[in-house]
Amino acid sequence: MGDIIDIAIVGGGPAGLTAAIYGARARVKTVVFETGLPGGQIVSASWVENYPGFPDGITGQALADLMYQQAENAGAEFRTLSPVEAIRAEGDGYVLSVGGDEVRARVVILATGAIPKKLGIPGESEFTGRGVSWCATCDGPLYRDKVVAVVGGGDSATQEAVYLAKIAKEVHLIHRRDELRATECLQEQCFFNPQIVMHLSHVAEEILGDGGRLTGVRLRSKADESEMVLPVDGMFEFVGIDAQSGLVADLCELDELGFVKVDPDGLTSRTGLYAAGDVSNYKLKQVVTACARGAFAVYHAVHYLETRVGAA
Ligand code: NAP
Repeated sequence: MGDIIDIAIVGGGPAGLTAAIYGARARVKTVVFETGLPGGQIVSASWVENYPGFPDGITGQALADLMYQQAENAGAEFRTLSPVEAIRAEGDGYVLSVGGDEVRARVVILATGAIPKKLGIPGESEFTGRGVSWCATCDGPLYRDKVVAVVGGGDSATQEAVYLAKIAKEVHLIHRRDELRATECLQEQCFFNPQIVMHLSHVAEEILGDGGRLTGVRLRSKADESEMVLPVDGMFEFVGIDAQSGLVADLCELDELGFVKVDPDGLTSRTGLYAAGDVSNYKLKQVVTACARGAFAVYHAVHYLETRVGAA
């Protein structure tokens, strides 16, 4: 085991990167563990319109890059070679298992985010990567002048349907209820877009294909139980997120959906262990709230180090 880290941040999305900026500026040894692209899920967001400071919006990738640069400039260290495989409590700190090594940390901030859920319907596994996608930014350009389906009724589905409508010839938005869950302005952008066809109260039951190519999706109407086949070239699923909380499942309390329970400071049920961003159990999951939660968590963590450990 090498030097002890003051604050180990696991995950480099908006919450983790903000915590890194604040931790480094507080001049405590702050290390971010992230093996993917910095930015987390935000990298997949085609366009971010509600993060203050960007009046015309910004791509998720560009926003992530800026946050990453800012954390590096502040002096945070990034360890990107191996994922954190386990975290255990030891003494008054934590030990992280990383690529065959053990790394000691006084405080851990879990910012591992969440991953998109799958529908789990027939045809989904078969056509994953061959027509079924969870990332419009990554795969949308493959569908120029083609027809795609988007499943879901939340902010992700509506936002990405609007993005896809700029590329595809037609976008079919399929939602299981008769009203959308999304923020009003995203709903408006869908309802008033002539390229977006709404299929409310419809359930996607099966993804269909022919010779390895996705050709359509079978829908069932919840109003009259009738069925139809919608011919599409691709299908994007945005049906919610699953918390990436497995690393701390045995260390602290999770809610019934698997999100880490935190107090307003981001503290979990265990001293010295914090969670911030989409992995934690607050309602308004946005980039701006993830950043704020990262700041709260690291502010409290630095205070804890000063008062309890005397390391800061
Ligand atoms: P979400 O808000 O949980 O919405 C998931 C949608 O998928 C809901 O409409 C839900 O239907 C539907 N759904 C869930 N399970 C389904 C199933 N098995 N079959 C069919 N439909 C199903 O998830 P999200 O849109 O991915 O957003 C996640 C979080 O990130 C939210 O807090 C959201 O506000 C936030 N976010 C914000 C922005 C932004 O501010 N621009 C962008 C993206 C995401 P019901 O409505 O019937 O439950």
